[in-house]
Parts: sequence; C-alpha cells; structure tokens
Amino acid sequence: MAKAKDSASTTMEALSSLCKRRGFIFQTSDIYGGINGFWDYGPLGSQLKKNIKDAWWHDVVQVNENIVGLDSAIIMPPRVWEASGHIGGFSDPMVDCKSCKKRYKADNLCEEQGQDLIQEGKTFRLPEGIICPACKSKELTEPRAFDLMFKTYVGPVEDDSAVAYLRPETAQGIFAQFNNVVSTSRQKIPFGIAQIGKAFRNEINPRNYTFRSREFEQMEIEFFIEPGTDAEWHEYWIKQRLAWYESVGLPASSLHQDIHPQEKLAHYASACTDIAYDFPFGVQELEGIAARGNFDLSRHAEYSGKSMDYVDPVTNKRFVPHVVEPSAGVDRIALAILCNAYKEQWVAKEGNAVLPAEPGKQVPEGYEARTVMQFAPRIAPIKAAVFPLLKNKPPLVDMARNIFNSLQQYWPCFYDQTGAIGRRYRRQDEIGTPFCITVDFDSLEDNTVTLRERDSMQQERVPIDEIEARMRAAIA
Ligand code: ATP
Repeated sequence: MAKAKDSASTTMEALSSLCKRRGFIFQTSDIYGGINGFWDYGPLGSQLKKNIKDAWWHDVVQVNENIVGLDSAIIMPPRVWEASGHIGGFSDPMVDCKSCKKRYKADNLCEEQGQDLIQEGKTFRLPEGIICPACKSKELTEPRAFDLMFKTYVGPVEDDSAVAYLRPETAQGIFAQFNNVVSTSRQKIPFGIAQIGKAFRNEINPRNYTFRSREFEQMEIEFFIEPGTDAEWHEYWIKQRLAWYESVGLPASSLHQDIHPQEKLAHYASACTDIAYDFPFGVQELEGIAARGNFDLSRHAEYSGKSMDYVDPVTNKRFVPHVVEPSAGVDRIALAILCNAYKEQWVAKEGNAVLPAEPGKQVPEGYEARTVMQFAPRIAPIKAAVFPLLKNKPPLVDMARNIFNSLQQYWPCFYDQTGAIGRRYRRQDEIGTPFCITVDFDSLEDNTVTLRERDSMQQERVPIDEIEARMRAAIA
C-alpha cells in the first residue's frame, strides 16, 4: 500500500526538526547518540501522547458501560506466548543483501517493487526481479524467519528456565485475565476489556521516524461477543474507530480502510480491516480491527488447563466467546496527528489573509511566513497561552498571572511575557496552542482581554469570566 511522494522526505525532515526544536520528540538518550527504533517524547510530546490516550480511554472505557479497563504486566509467563502462537510463530521473513549487507522485511521489499512475496505453506520465496534498493544488487538471500520478541531473564540465574519476553502486544494480558474480569466486573456479553500499554518488537528495520519503532504503546480493545455475531460487531467497530479518528482531528479524506482479502487472513480470523492514514511517506496502518473468532481464549484454555467458557446468565448457554479486536498504536496516531497538524503558511501582516506557503518561493510582499500546528483543541498539548502586554507593568503582570493560574487548574497552559506580542503568537502557533490571551491596559479598566484564535488568527475582546466557558466549548 505504500506510495512514495516527492516531497515526503522534505516534509518529514521539516516536521522532525520542529519536533526536536520545540520538545515534542527526541531520539532516546540523545547525548549518547540514541538507539535505532527508540524515541523519547519531550515536554510537549508527552502531553500530546497523554491527550491521545486520555481521549481514547474516555471514549472507549469511561462512556461505555460495557467496556472495562485493565493494566496488565509487561512480563508474563512464557506459556502465554506459547498459547498465543508468538513463541515460534512471531517472526517476519527477512532478506539480506549479500553485497551491501542491508536487511529488509521481505513483504515490504516486494510491495515497494510492485510485487507480492510468494508464500508456500510456511516458507517464503522472493519473486523474480527483486533488487536491493540501496545498492541495486540482485544478490539477495532467500527470506528467513527473524524472531521479533525481546528476550530477558527473570531472577538472578540466566538459564533457560528463567527466560521471559517483553510483551509484543498488550492483547494477551487481556485474554489471560478474562476469567478474573468476568467474575469481578459483572459484565455480560457483549462486553469489552481495554488496555493501554507499552509493547516491544525487535523490528528489523525501524523507519519513517517513530512509525515503526522497537518500543511503542498500544491501545487495544478485546470485545467479547456471542459466536455468529462477528460480522456485525466487526462493522460496528470499524465505524466507531473511524469516527474516533475524526474526533481527534484527522480528516475523513486522509483515512482509508484496507480490507484484508479472505485468502490472507489467519486461519482463525473471519475478517480484518486496517484503518490507514495518508502519511507523507504513503498510506500506512494506524490500527487493525480483526474478528479473531475464539482462537485466543481457546488456546489459553488449552495451555493453562483452565476453562474459558462463558455461561449466559439468562439463557444458561455455555460457549467460548468470540472476539473483535480493535488494536491501535499510540505513537503512530501521534505521528499522524503531527503530520496532519503541520502547516507552513504565508500570513498577511495586516488583516488575517492566509496563503499556503509555496516551497522555494519568496514570501509575497505584505506577508510573513508562519509555521502552525493545527491540532484539534482537544488534542493540543497546551490549550492557552497568557501574555501581559508589557512585562514591566506589575498590574498587567498580576492580572495575566491570575488568569494563567486559574486556567492552569483545568488545562496545561503557558505564561509568556517576553518579546513582541506578534513573536509570542508565532511561538504558540508553532506548538499548536489554540488560544492566546493578552492582558492590556483596557483589561485593567473593563476586565476584558484579547482572545486570539490560532487558525483564523481572529482576535476579539472577551470578559475574563467568560474565558473558561469559551475554552471548554472548544476543547470538548
Ligand atoms: P505492521 O504491519 O505495520 O508491522 P502489525 O499489523 O504487525 O503492523 P499489529 O500487530 O496489528 O500491527 O499491532 C496493532 C497496532 O500496533 C498497529 O496498527 C500499530 O499502530 C501498532 N504497532 C505495531 N507495530 C508497531 C511498531 N513497530 N511501531 C509502532 N507501532 C506499532
């Protein structure tokens, strides 16, 4: 599905440079040069990610009576991964270039060259004509399995009996606690268990900034249903999740459904649809929504020896529930939101006219360039910035600080008293703050302030005691 765009790398470079400069994303342990596939989120990035997770938790768990939360451990008994099929089965076919030694995921390599990886039972073969994109060599190894799970040891002795794995997905922690949740939460089918947490995969080829990382966060729902209702719940969740992406600011036109053909589904699955976003580097998956039958619960019943049957309290029907799994990645959603928000514009020095910037061209007469992150207010890391017009006038400073202190009780806000107001606006535009509030001399007389909106750049006088309600309406 990947499609290259000419300006993709320029856009991603500009975005990653802003993210570093303004404290959204840093390579991990920057002073030591980082490790490929690991990222740290700075003051603004960590707040952005928190807002995404809070929005998901609110919309999935808090407002749905029949969905409950869970926070399971990252390290679980290795038997969990035998049951799930990850031990022995969680690997990607990889090919190495014999000439330049670069390593690639076989399916991506074929896809990028317009071909399909050939699968024969459990083995894979490259089609004719695949070359190394780096050195153009035709000398590639046959695809070989590469284990994606990170291994560690529990306790002081590093022998085989102490081997454990960092979870490659959060889902299995949910299945392993199915019985405990059913017996403690009084949920009746259909119901869901939701979890947000870290997952780890030793990806061969981390790339596209944070898109494919080795440590990342997932937000997963296991929605347990009666067998036979799989198709309708699968449809339901696709609709719900598409609407959710729009609610966090991704336009419908940038979202796509990638429906997996029947012949590519796992043997136990009846349907799988990915929700994909139009990234500058191609249309790529944000979330997979799979109807997985009762495969997971049945396997855990088999491997643990504990029944995973559910007994309907009304009909007394006994069955192993089927499941629909919407499984999303926080970091990919954050990246999609950052890509979507990033805009370079030319704005008129007088009035509020805005033109999209044309790369490589001179800013037109009477205009100036601005970079603005157009985050949905709900997701923006900082919701409002408060400025006194002048920093050396104590009454202005006191009033601005009072407003700042009271808004900060509800939302992350920013206080700034340095530089010309225009410069302060630009700084906030660049980090996507939806509202700027300026206290001036009139404010001391009439208790109003200037409220400036980020995207339209409209300014209006608003009574101080109306600001909170105005912001609440925009952020909800
Ligand atoms: P891909 O095909 O891109 O490797 P996947 O189909 O293996 O992804 P799932 O196992 O379905 O991914 O995981 C669910 C979600 O977890 C994905 O939709 C994605 O948002 C996120 N995710 C998976 N792998 C990574 C990764 N390496 N880095 C960041 N997010 C990831």
